Amino acid sequence: MSKIFSAELKKFESPTTLEQAVSGLWRIDEIILSTTDIKTLSEKIANVMLEELDYLKFGYIIIVLSLLDRSKKKLKRVSISKTEFAEKALINSPLPFEKITFDMNDKENLPVKALLENVPYVTDDLSDMLYPAIERDLVRNVQKKLGVLTSVTFPIYSKSSPLGTLIFSMNKKEELITDFEKQILIGFTNAAGIAIEHAVLFKKLNEANDKLKSLDKQKDEFLSMAAHELRAPMTAIKGYVSMVLEGDTGDIPEKTRGFLADTSNITDRLIRLVNNMLNVSRIEEGRMVYQMEEENLSSVVRTIFNQFTPEVERKGLKYDLEIPNEIKDKVMVDPDRIQEVVGNLLSNAAKYTDTGFVKVKLSQPEKETVRVEVIDSGPGISEVEQKKLFQKFHRVESNVGKTTGTGLGLYICKLLVEKFNGKIGINSVVGKGSIFWFELPLVTDASSNSN
Ligand code: ADP
Repeated sequence: MSKIFSAELKKFESPTTLEQAVSGLWRIDEIILSTTDIKTLSEKIANVMLEELDYLKFGYIIIVLSLLDRSKKKLKRVSISKTEFAEKALINSPLPFEKITFDMNDKENLPVKALLENVPYVTDDLSDMLYPAIERDLVRNVQKKLGVLTSVTFPIYSKSSPLGTLIFSMNKKEELITDFEKQILIGFTNAAGIAIEHAVLFKKLNEANDKLKSLDKQKDEFLSMAAHELRAPMTAIKGYVSMVLEGDTGDIPEKTRGFLADTSNITDRLIRLVNNMLNVSRIEEGRMVYQMEEENLSSVVRTIFNQFTPEVERKGLKYDLEIPNEIKDKVMVDPDRIQEVVGNLLSNAAKYTDTGFVKVKLSQPEKETVRVEVIDSGPGISEVEQKKLFQKFHRVESNVGKTTGTGLGLYICKLLVEKFNGKIGINSVVGKGSIFWFELPLVTDASSNSN
């Protein structure tokens, strides 16, 4: 018959020394708390006491872990220790182990009762642990064969929520279970509770993470597909507008020319934006194909500088380009990509500067480096914000709302400049303006000969 398992400390009769037991418990804690996969953890919980603390020696022959399936209100067997006794029990069981399940209304079942009441129970009748899933007589027969004399069931709780139960079956009488042993069982069950809760949380976190990753991938795919579809029509618009502007369709009135020039600028901006969107996924996924060539950086800068002349001058800004005559400027880059870098920096300077000037300057800070600076008298960026610039989707708080943008331009500039073995940065003072710069290694005669 079942009765409440008393956990009071009576007399000190340990199967081992206190020191050994405590260190064993520590070892068990370490093993099970470091396991995050619920299946492996369940197996460890059922085996670790027998393997690590050698409890077979003290008459413990089978340990069984059951977990509560909250949605179905069922207590399910999940793991059993790998002892020859357990093997024998499994062979003699009319039900496969994983099918042994109890409804939480099966109050005659001792583990269910223990879990509902959050109290440990002990019995000399093993069928208390298995009825009604398996007939009592069948269980009692197997119990005889195995020589099980006592079984203890402990509820496993985490804080106040029930998680499952542990059953310890042994071939010694209840009176021989020392109080000290009982304390160990309680400590072990508590550790199992914490470990199971960890593993469940870890599983949930992993699932949420996988879901986020898949959503992120879907978003990237959509972005890339949408950008791809937008690019062709925009390039067509740009082509037709420049044909009209260049007089291919005859003379156009001055006012129309102004509107068309604006259309052309806006289209350029859209194309830049779409290119950024396409580039970001290509670079991140390693799909970007770089056509590396030796290129004169001054001519790239000059071309892009000229493209922005109408836009910057229409804003009434002073617009200058400074390229020293004697400058060395041969770099190894993908010309289209480096044009995008300069274009993104100049586009920002033009976009964020309302009064004053925009200036582009080339210099050679070191013998083997060329530097491009895009200088403006715009709003500037605080030191705190500067630290976050160049991150994906980052937009400066004070600018959000005033201007449209994606926060991709600088991120891509950084990825590309670093791809070409260069570096990029900013010097800025709020209220005064910004200098966005990048530096690339020069192709020296020695390095170009060796290539
Ligand atoms: P976007 O311009 O599309 O927002 P960017 O990555 O090019 O994205 O720029 C990130 C942020 O950096 C911008 O939102 C803006 O707030 C700030 N920024 C970039 N260039 C300048 C500049 N020249 N002056 C002031 N702020 C700038």
